[in-house]
Amino acid sequence: MLHQQIDQKLTEKEAWALRRQLGIPNNKRLWVLACMDERLPVEKALGIAEGDAHIFRNAGGLVTDDAIRSAMLTTQFFGTKEIIVINHTECGMMTASGDLLSEILLKRGINIDEVSIDPALPQLKLPKGVFSKWIKTFTDVDEVCLKQVELLQSSPLIPQDVVVTGYIWEVETGSLRRPYQRLSQKVNTAEDMAAKTSSNSHHHAPQTV
Ligand SMILES: [Zn+2]
Repeated sequence: MLHQQIDQKLTEKEAWALRRQLGIPNNKRLWVLACMDERLPVEKALGIAEGDAHIFRNAGGLVTDDAIRSAMLTTQFFGTKEIIVINHTECGMMTASGDLLSEILLKRGINIDEVSIDPALPQLKLPKGVFSKWIKTFTDVDEVCLKQVELLQSSPLIPQDVVVTGYIWEVETGSLRRPYQRLSQKVNTAEDMAAKTSSNSHHHAPQTV
């Protein structure tokens, strides 16, 4: 009967709206830390749908105090068991050093040693000279990805049994890869393939998989 279909729909809608009250975790029990870059489509990259994850995005996809705050809440109180970090190639955080950005802000009249980094919590202050580090620019996306995984794994605010993994989103290919495993560097060139089939190829290093 129709009322059964309607009731079913209503029950589902109520469960969706009242998930936190009912103690229902997100579908994949997943928390994602990703860069805010518009070229990184988080759900598409991970093959997940609406409702599957709590997604936290900031400049770089980096472990910051607010990232830790959110990761702590989702893993300690909302049933999340897995964390995935996504950093990406051509990240804006690699374009300038923290010192250079600080210098520009100073020239714009911002007192970086006194400014409140959290207006809602004035007690939270940076020691003098730390502002540049707080911006957290980086130079190597693979290195930074592994570092974020390590930082999350070692945080006392996140349970030990939470599984943390990191990936790189390649904006140039629109695909995900593991840190330090750029697929394009493994693809054979014609020269490499000729060397493999040639009998006097001993001067070429064998391909490792
Ligand atoms: Zn980025």
